Amino acid sequence: MSVIVEKLTKRFTAGGSPAVADVSFEAPTGAITTLLGPSGAGKSTILRLIAGLETSDTGRVLIDGTDCTELPVQQRGIGVVFQSYALFRHMTVRENIAFGLSVRRQSKAEVEARVDEMLRLVQLEELGQRTPAQLSGGQRQRVAFARALAIRPRLLLLDEPFGALDTRVRVELREWLHELHTLTGVTTLLVTHDQEEALEISQHVVIMSEGRVAQAGAPADIYDRPATPFVASFVGGNSMLKGQVREGRAEMGALIVAAPQSAREGQAVQAFVRPHDIKLAKKPAGNGLNGNAAVRVERLKSVGGYVKVLLKLPNGDTVAVEVPRGEFEELGVVEGDSVHADVRSARVFVGDFSI
Ligand code: ADP
Ligand code: MG
Repeated sequence: MSVIVEKLTKRFTAGGSPAVADVSFEAPTGAITTLLGPSGAGKSTILRLIAGLETSDTGRVLIDGTDCTELPVQQRGIGVVFQSYALFRHMTVRENIAFGLSVRRQSKAEVEARVDEMLRLVQLEELGQRTPAQLSGGQRQRVAFARALAIRPRLLLLDEPFGALDTRVRVELREWLHELHTLTGVTTLLVTHDQEEALEISQHVVIMSEGRVAQAGAPADIYDRPATPFVASFVGGNSMLKGQVREGRAEMGALIVAAPQSAREGQAVQAFVRPHDIKLAKKPAGNGLNGNAAVRVERLKSVGGYVKVLLKLPNGDTVAVEVPRGEFEELGVVEGDSVHADVRSARVFVGDFSI
């Protein structure tokens, strides 16, 4: 039951810039695919176009090879969960879950059996008679999942389903969704702006920026090989450094890394460096490309098991480094000290882009 989105374009205002511009991607059968991007990137609009809640200007949506572009919402066989619970306040949990089933003209016994099954699936067997007001936020979202899955959808669409919950519950439910998906195997399209959520629970990620697809691929692919400066800046907590190609290397102030093969002498470069890809030392390490780069420790912040070190380069650029706490204690530096920084890996783009 794969979903193929083909050249979808949607403008809300005539002549304005499109909310969704020429978007194509595939969500593989049985997988969780994530649409990841900043607010306003067009993610929700794509989901609404697939669900049939909006009409596209051009393009097609194919579900399992069938063109659904003209099909009414109810006939698409899609379950939807939004950020806000959208449960019926005056109905019990059972009635909420049964809602889509009653519309589909099933016998009362069939409906009751399916509701029981769904309550077990989302582990809320005891709470069927409660109303939404008597549930926690996380429980309400589980009811929303039960209601979406009750109709045996071909496709599950989730729009920031954990966005309104606090961090702890959000992380718990992320794990829960992973297990739920293992049980149901329903092809799922999840919208989120949270890269951790995307990289952790999906098999396929589509990165969106300004209505367009910036990159699509497996989470590891996107993390290790961002295709554009935008993707590199959005995923992986990178610091961006500007510099120049000199003698076949990318020099960003005091920091030096290998330049791409295509780079020519004197070209501008942008390098993206991950916080754990810089090795700090009190003394020059003497190995690597830039074992001798001395930089200033601008700020230190202890966060859980590691210390965030903000470095200031001679040219004024700043770089964030994360050092495991034990390693940091061995390093023994304080704010204002000079340290030697060795960039172990960086993603370098040739050209002076704006992101
Ligand atoms: P995201 O979900 O990635 O945050 P949206 O799909 O909600 O982004 O929005 C993409 C763009 O389309 C935004 O600029 C938003 O303001 C605009 N937009 C979304 N829905 C409507 C609407 N119903 N009417 C007008 N503009 C809209
Ligand atoms: Mg949205």
